[in-house]
Amino acid sequence: MTDTFFHPVSGFDLPRFAGVPTFMRLPLVQPDHPRYGDVDVGLVGVPWDSGTTNRPGPRHGPRQLRDASTMIRAQHATSGMRPFEALNCADLGDVGPNPADIMDSMARITTFYEGMKKAGIRPLTAGGDHLTSLPVLRALANDAALGMVHFDSHTDLFHSYFNGTMYTHGTPFRRAVEEGLLDPKRVVQIGIRGTMYDAEDRDFAAANGIRLILIEEFHARGVADVMAEAREIVGTAPTYVSYDIDFVDPTFAPGTGTPEVGGPNSYQALQVCRELAGLNIVGADMVEVSPPFDTSGGTAFLGVSIMFEILCIMAGQGR
Ligand code: MN
Ligand code: MN
Repeated sequence: MTDTFFHPVSGFDLPRFAGVPTFMRLPLVQPDHPRYGDVDVGLVGVPWDSGTTNRPGPRHGPRQLRDASTMIRAQHATSGMRPFEALNCADLGDVGPNPADIMDSMARITTFYEGMKKAGIRPLTAGGDHLTSLPVLRALANDAALGMVHFDSHTDLFHSYFNGTMYTHGTPFRRAVEEGLLDPKRVVQIGIRGTMYDAEDRDFAAANGIRLILIEEFHARGVADVMAEAREIVGTAPTYVSYDIDFVDPTFAPGTGTPEVGGPNSYQALQVCRELAGLNIVGADMVEVSPPFDTSGGTAFLGVSIMFEILCIMAGQGR
């Protein structure tokens, strides 16, 4: 049982529609807070979508995700895990981006996450578009390349957009491999589908040993079999989990900029997270939730439900 300072406000004590909506009703512990050094897992908002190439909006994600996260209770329904008692969890606030300058924003994000790493805090991020993962990986993988389990409709492995723009939400993992932040032989991308520009991204994956599990294979084999292979690929060395909400079928997650039909349902979206148990997860993110495309908030509720699943797995790893 951890320090009750880090326990979320219970709906038995204050109705869940009341109060200031921090992530999962946890205390707000920004870097200048006296308890910052006692946090084990920090939930961070990165309200930034300057890497978006088509339909924008994930800059509004963290606020809607925080609101939806007041629906999350303290205990996992099937595993019985009570993550807020296993670990000290807190809302670390938002990284303030510069929406007019991609390079400056990435530097700000990396600095924030370097501070977390130094303090021994594992990040669970709410983006933000998928470019967010790159500056986070620059902080987390500064001593050794990481493995990655990546849920997405897209590989995000393209070389560049618009004749030479290297930093977009379609390129973060190409850059991460080039920069030595990811070990491509320990990267698995699950759920890949949709019409294609060309096969340049898939050719890069094949040439570097990145395993792509296309949606046809995902549906044919099922969650348990696919995820057993994913666990084998990343092994027990340090691993990052990146979850693009467009992995899920747009019936269940319409609030995103680049939806692709034929995807997993909302139950499978949770099941894949439960299959991450046993991995050495050093950080995770939920990205591409775009509130303007789903003002009902349903996509955000799925997003925070996925974040809770991942948090429970991180709690199972201990401190
Ligand atoms: Mn993506
Ligand atoms: Mn995507």
